[in-house]
Amino acid sequence: MSRVYNFSAGPAVLPEEVLEEAAQEMMDYRGTGMSVMEMSHRSKVFDDLINESQEDLRDLLSIPSDYKILYLQGGAHLQFAMIPMNLMKNRKADYIVTGQWAKKAWQEASKFGEAVKIASSEDKTFTYIPDCSDLPVDEDADYVYICENNTIYGTKYKTLPNTKGKLLVSDVSSCFLSEPVDVTKYGIMYGGVQKNIGPAGMVISIIREDLITDDCLPGTPTMMKFKTHADNNSMYNTPNCYCIYICGKVFKWLKKNGGLAAMKERNEKKAAILYDYLDESKLFHGTVRREDRSLMNVPFVTGDPDKDAAFVKAAAEQGFVNLKGHRSVGGMRASIYNAMPVEGVEKLVAFMKEYEKDNL
Ligand SMILES: *Cc1c(COP(=O)(O)O)cnc(C)c1O
Repeated sequence: MSRVYNFSAGPAVLPEEVLEEAAQEMMDYRGTGMSVMEMSHRSKVFDDLINESQEDLRDLLSIPSDYKILYLQGGAHLQFAMIPMNLMKNRKADYIVTGQWAKKAWQEASKFGEAVKIASSEDKTFTYIPDCSDLPVDEDADYVYICENNTIYGTKYKTLPNTKGKLLVSDVSSCFLSEPVDVTKYGIMYGGVQKNIGPAGMVISIIREDLITDDCLPGTPTMMKFKTHADNNSMYNTPNCYCIYICGKVFKWLKKNGGLAAMKERNEKKAAILYDYLDESKLFHGTVRREDRSLMNVPFVTGDPDKDAAFVKAAAEQGFVNLKGHRSVGGMRASIYNAMPVEGVEKLVAFMKEYEKDNL
């Protein structure tokens, strides 16, 4: 067996212990004689599994009892539509556009009502988070929408925007469970799990209970109503059973490893190793305003696309894979999610130092 250091932005690295446990249970999950993939979602075994996963997640994030946890399909992309369909009662919502994902969400919302872009960092190719302390939040806005960690550009909100009393909706796909957060500050916190939690194919949405109603936009399909999923414990239709199973294992892994406070500490340590080097390197440099740097996604460049490509290739040959930046920005990006060990970042930086010596 030969494992690489996988810096993919998503689908991304998973904890090896989780993969090994899943492999052991593949032929026979706890005496059932079948894998979780082959099991009815209406079975007692699966019911226990999904409930336990939710309890563990609730523990990890200290989710209050007036918030529901939904396991949804269709990716973060479907939430771009589902959110306005469920929340846009006044047909108006404010969007802060800090990258492609926020922009796509804003564009999608404009199909359902007035989606107002109240701030943006597009003027500097999304390399910073705008000042959100006193934005022109609309009186009649149903919510304020953000993408909290910008996976492609490597920026992260260090303080949440002042929504002036309006509901905050946040896409946390690439920073989900990377550090403790105060769930009560959000109306909805949601994210695709393929970044920092599990395999692709599922979104977890943590929604304040009073936002889950039948009062959706006219014509909202049954499958697009939060209420449909909330009333059926995310099993109105067949859920992504195997993904729920793996996510459940990752929650246990997080708890065993000290929970989110310990993750934060470890993530800060990993990010510092990489950013400190980028700050002193003469070959590579980071692309993001210092105070807005993400702990999860670290973009960097040499300034020359040919040199970037050569580095990505050389790194891959040494087992540091998926370092190529997003096609829209080029350069490199190291995604260093929870499951990336400190050692992986240390070794990457050691390699970069050697590479710099030979290629400056
Ligand atoms: C990856 C990503 C998305 C898109 O997720 P899909 O599951 O492909 O729809 C949306 N938002 C953020 C922040 C992401 O990182």
